[in-house]
Amino acid sequence: MESKYIPEPYKIKMVEPITLLPKEERAKRIKDAGYNTFLLKTRDVFIDLLTDSGTNAMSHYQWAGLMLGDEAYAGSENWIHLEETVRELFGFRYVVPTHQGRGAENLISQILVKPGMYIPGNMYFTTTRTHMELQGGTFVDVIRDEAHEPERDDIPFKGDVDLGKYEALIKKVGPEKIPYICVAVTVNMAGGQPTSMANLKAVYEMSQRYGIRVIFDATRCVENAYFIKKREAGYEDKTIAEIVLEMFSYSDGCTMSGKKDGIVNMGGFLAVNEEDLYRKATGLVVVYEGMPSYGGMTGRDMEAFARGLREAMNYDYIRHRVEQVIYLGNRMSQRGVPIVKPVGGHAVFVDARRFLPHLSQDELPAQALAAAIYEHSGVRTMERGIVSAGRDKDGNNYHPKLELVRLTIPRRVYTNAHLDYVADSVESLLAEASDIRGLKWVYEPSVLRFFTGRFEHI
Ligand SMILES: *Cc1c(COP(=O)(O)O)cnc(C)c1O
Repeated sequence: MESKYIPEPYKIKMVEPITLLPKEERAKRIKDAGYNTFLLKTRDVFIDLLTDSGTNAMSHYQWAGLMLGDEAYAGSENWIHLEETVRELFGFRYVVPTHQGRGAENLISQILVKPGMYIPGNMYFTTTRTHMELQGGTFVDVIRDEAHEPERDDIPFKGDVDLGKYEALIKKVGPEKIPYICVAVTVNMAGGQPTSMANLKAVYEMSQRYGIRVIFDATRCVENAYFIKKREAGYEDKTIAEIVLEMFSYSDGCTMSGKKDGIVNMGGFLAVNEEDLYRKATGLVVVYEGMPSYGGMTGRDMEAFARGLREAMNYDYIRHRVEQVIYLGNRMSQRGVPIVKPVGGHAVFVDARRFLPHLSQDELPAQALAAAIYEHSGVRTMERGIVSAGRDKDGNNYHPKLELVRLTIPRRVYTNAHLDYVADSVESLLAEASDIRGLKWVYEPSVLRFFTGRFEHI
């Protein structure tokens, strides 16, 4: 089955030239970057699939909005617009702006997480878990088991919370030790896998029974809504906006990175319904981000963000966005590249364990594969395996089941031809896979080590 490509629901009016360096030059650049793709420069890169975070192409309507930036220190018009938009689209009472998603994670963790507490969630995310741990909390993974099985492609909602695991944790530590459950929609670290409406509802009901708050990681909630429309019975005729509103009705608040589904380059927010939480968050936001009417964003940022959120609810937009990712995944899979299935909403994840079966996890297979893909094709990807997982409180490496290389698709940036180049390049690397050597650390930062760590060949 050759995969079908949906024409872009936009046309291009401004371009940014990109070049492919010669192979010897690429080998030198990745070595100089310590075999860490985060340390490459844009000028080294041909196609940049490092992340979909802040790499979005804004529409002409968003760019026009920049000119309406009201750069007042307090009470900006653009903040009023953003606040109204979030309230309307997500249904929350209170909104606190932050410079990006982790700013909101910092606020909610500082307010609710105390030493000795447990925060369950459907798989960890790097910055989210770090903020919980900085407050003395412990993250507990309660995602369904199949999320850890990259070959299982028969499950439409691999991001679902396992209610049995969740309830077992509540019974073990007691609900008073659980300030909230963090539910990601979609689950980034599981490969952009969605969470079903039925599961969100069930998690909310169980949480209410025990008096535990539900906080969504809303970063890719529009992609999640698209999957619900496509895969969950009863939602096929609902609009994306209706589905988003229903999803958030099963939560007490959310953190959001606007750099993903907000289709902007910078921005985020915390939204809650409880007045007490809102008061505490506005007290902290002035310390860490800025006034509660800008939170680290300029007026023009906030205008673009408000406009981007509305555009994201457009069915043609989100359908193309997710189907473009699925197209890349299908093309790679058809060519024999081992990937996580089903393909998620924002990225294709290559299974480095199956790509490089000759490397053990301690030889950092996903890090080695990401470096090799760059050297082979000029395509920049990211490690999501043992390097990203980091160390626990006692200094031991976490050993995640998955060793993945993430090919993340920026929104509205690349065409079908770019994606074909990517798929064909990774396929041709597969033939040389046995020559790819493992890596070892030469510099390991103590927090979020994957961003700036350096490596060399074993
Ligand atoms: C990106 C991301 C965050 C953090 O957002 P930033 O804007 O990068 O700070 C949190 N959760 C998930 C799932 C993300 O993908």
